[in-house]
Amino acid sequence: MATINANFNKLASGYLFPEIARRTAQWQKRNPGIPVMRLGIGNTTEPLPPAVRRAMKEKIDKLGDRTTYTGYGDEQGDTYLREAMVKYYQRWGIALEPTEFFISDGAKSDAANIQQIFGPDNIVAIQDPAYPVYVDSNVVGGRSGAYNSERGQYDGFVYLSTSEEGGFIPTPPEEKVDLIYLCNPNNPTGAVANHAQVKAFVDYAIANKAVIIYDSAYSEYITEEGFPRSIYEVEGAKRCAIEISSFSKFSGFTGVRLGWTIVPHELECEDGAAGVLNGLWNRRQCTFFNGASNVSQSGAYAALFGKGYEESRALVEYYLGNAKIIRDGLTSLGLTVYGGTNSPYIWAKTPNNMDSWAFFDLLLERCHVVVTPGGGFGPAGKHYVRFSSYGHREDVEQAMKSVKENAGI
Ligand SMILES: *Cc1c(COP(=O)(O)O)cnc(C)c1O
Repeated sequence: MATINANFNKLASGYLFPEIARRTAQWQKRNPGIPVMRLGIGNTTEPLPPAVRRAMKEKIDKLGDRTTYTGYGDEQGDTYLREAMVKYYQRWGIALEPTEFFISDGAKSDAANIQQIFGPDNIVAIQDPAYPVYVDSNVVGGRSGAYNSERGQYDGFVYLSTSEEGGFIPTPPEEKVDLIYLCNPNNPTGAVANHAQVKAFVDYAIANKAVIIYDSAYSEYITEEGFPRSIYEVEGAKRCAIEISSFSKFSGFTGVRLGWTIVPHELECEDGAAGVLNGLWNRRQCTFFNGASNVSQSGAYAALFGKGYEESRALVEYYLGNAKIIRDGLTSLGLTVYGGTNSPYIWAKTPNNMDSWAFFDLLLERCHVVVTPGGGFGPAGKHYVRFSSYGHREDVEQAMKSVKENAGI
């Protein structure tokens, strides 16, 4: 008699984006022919850098010739790319080894899978609000209790609540936790923790033999000094942190797919000496993963240096330009906004303490603009909405024009 993994029944999410889609579809039915403008989506819109496309085309031609064709590559990623990743990190003064890099098909799956190498009894700490996969993967992994719909949170997790007063940067918990998920620059708040704020977590993790899972998917959006691009800029982080990142938001790889995870040789935990966790992740990948696409890896390599890097940087600057338009527009309406300078996301406080879903409805009704209600990312987001800068410039301008003219706030 087969039974299901009942942990899936505990999952409360899968609510946010379907609910946005439902409300948007309903509005469209009531307003046929009127286009909706989307400022809610975390998906890239601008074309792949030319150098990346060239590299991928060359690789495809090699695959089309029996003398240069290759099949399965290494599960950990091709050596040339792992060596290039080492050089990429040297830019920020970080010394890593190729064997500490694990190339993957993206950061989301790594963020979901990484919990598999940790015991089921680990106490998990998650930022509130948070990118949902950190929460959901640990629910499925059996580390939570039931979902408490009144609180909008799961029993058994430790939530690191963030607020306006603290600039939406969490501080380490009072109690002892074992796994800590941090996303910096943050999705959804757009906040970016400085060196000292990240160091507080590194110090906590070392003192408590905890492990930090650090998602740096937006690190290329950091344009100001004083913010670490990688957790390994912080002294001691190799002993206590795994970093997960991606080419998706940096170089337009959301559809192409490529990411990486760094598990340092020095990383240790309560019952795992240095080297054990690196070995376990290697074991996990070799057992359950057959390597990332070789075409994607060629494109990613081209994005790391020279022309490909310049063109990728220009993509990031384009989205940051959109972010500025959104920020300035909302500020001119008198709204309080956060993020959008070292991040593609703008976290806007709702007017008059309005609920985030009510403000979502208002922007849809009056301005025909779709945003993401902050409450969907956790209770700390209840009075905020997330504006995303992913979109064509002219669409972002048009949407913001409508917000400025029609919001009536
Ligand atoms: C978009 C995003 C990613 C990227 O995921 P991929 O699977 O590499 O596309 C990772 N983390 C966060 C927080 C994101 O918003």
